[in-house]
Amino acid sequence: MAQEITAESDRYDGERTGFQLSASHRPDVIFAAETAADVRAAVAHAAGRELPVAVQATGHGMPGASDGGVLITTGRMDGVRVDPATATAWIEAGTPWSKVVEAAAPHGLAPLSGAAPAVGALSYTLGGGIGLMARKHGYAADHVRSIEVVTAGADLVLATPDKEPDLFWALLGGRGNFGVATRLEIALVPLRTLFGGGLFFDGFDAVHAWREWVAGAPEELTSSVAVIPFPDAPFVPEPLRGRRVTHVRIAYLGTPEAGAALIAPLRAHAKPLMDTVKEIPYTASGTIHNDPTEPVAAQSSHSLLRELPPQAIEATRALESNIIEIRHLGGALSRPTATPNAVGNREAAYLYAVLSRGSEVTNEHAETEAALRPWSTGGKALNFLFTAHATEENVKRAFTPEAYERLRSLKRAYDPADLFRHTHRIPPQGADEGP
Ligand SMILES: Cc1cc2nc3c(=O)[nH]c(=O)nc-3n(C[C@H](O)[C@H](O)[C@H](O)COP(=O)(O)OP(=O)(O)OC[C@H]3O[C@@H](n4cnc5c(N)ncnc54)[C@H](O)[C@@H]3O)c2cc1C
Repeated sequence: MAQEITAESDRYDGERTGFQLSASHRPDVIFAAETAADVRAAVAHAAGRELPVAVQATGHGMPGASDGGVLITTGRMDGVRVDPATATAWIEAGTPWSKVVEAAAPHGLAPLSGAAPAVGALSYTLGGGIGLMARKHGYAADHVRSIEVVTAGADLVLATPDKEPDLFWALLGGRGNFGVATRLEIALVPLRTLFGGGLFFDGFDAVHAWREWVAGAPEELTSSVAVIPFPDAPFVPEPLRGRRVTHVRIAYLGTPEAGAALIAPLRAHAKPLMDTVKEIPYTASGTIHNDPTEPVAAQSSHSLLRELPPQAIEATRALESNIIEIRHLGGALSRPTATPNAVGNREAAYLYAVLSRGSEVTNEHAETEAALRPWSTGGKALNFLFTAHATEENVKRAFTPEAYERLRSLKRAYDPADLFRHTHRIPPQGADEGP
């Protein structure tokens, strides 16, 4: 049975706190779920009292803090099962990518995981999922076979493209609006090693070299660039300490020899301060981005761009205390998928994000979005909408207008009382769009 934790408990703060420290849920009661039956009981409790439901696995994707209602924490539901014969994995609601990667690796298989191994695999995938092999294999959502979900009526339903096709389509993109998913069945890809790592260059100018280099990149290469102001601190590798550094991240699915030839122009551009690119097992793929593993308070905003001219890069040169990240999209991400889902913005060629530390939304977020507008598709990637930027307007921009209307209509059918509103909210058709 799920443990119920209220504000009087000394476990309350620990249970509701996740990776993102700039906001945390403050529910009336937390259901610390261990099984799908626990999730059903929690949803039944909420539905019976007309209380809204929030869900948290790791807290990496906090859409905005809930106040009151029920919080279902799924971190204890961290099981994973792999069937090597069908290259399939079944993952529970709170399983981090690291556990899926570890379970698949002995079979020469890998999931379509992303930058940070500690991110929750289920929520990442239902939000689209732009991974380390995204240009070759597309969105993680394009590789889902079935979703087990507790709906607003507290029923446990298995949604597949054939059985419950509407619910399956809506959950893959519309995520938390349609229920609490308890288990996901995903396809794995055959992979033991890849050619990957980071090239770290002094200053900002290498972003331009990266831009020119990725323009002709094969789909086997998925890469991104981050400009990071490293503190002068002992935990920072010595060559990077106290410097503003351009970190080029490489994940290449060819041979090490072909990879070395591919990145030779970048290595020749300027002498890297640090170069970690080599053949690595997929179990070490978290070292490619080297994202922080300790909880942080941060704000993040982004634009999806059709193209990346030099002026777009120059828009953030002066933001010396922010982290800038540009991910190269396209390839399989741009193609239609055989797996029906609501994930939108497939035409985007780049995802351009600005991060700032702390809980304040600083001016450079809106200023950068405005500066990038000439090249923007106007869209958003749901997985990259956090806290203050996870507004209903931005959520709407994660979908095509047709998909958004279909999602609203299905929301009215599956959750007319808007029980699951403490998420990247899609209002039911007919309801006010405002908060
Ligand atoms: C450091 C870092 C690196 C990242 N890298 C990538 C990347 O490479 N590619 C990418 O695509 N994204 C990336 N993301 C974004 C990440 O995929 C999303 O934030 C994702 O939602 C995180 O899932 P979580 O379970 O870890 O987070 P949580 O905060 O626990 O969940 C996020 C939201 O998902 C919903 N949700 C959670 N569990 C369920 C459930 N069982 N059923 C229904 N809804 C649920 C809830 O609304 C919840 O608020 C990154 C984020 C961070 C912070």
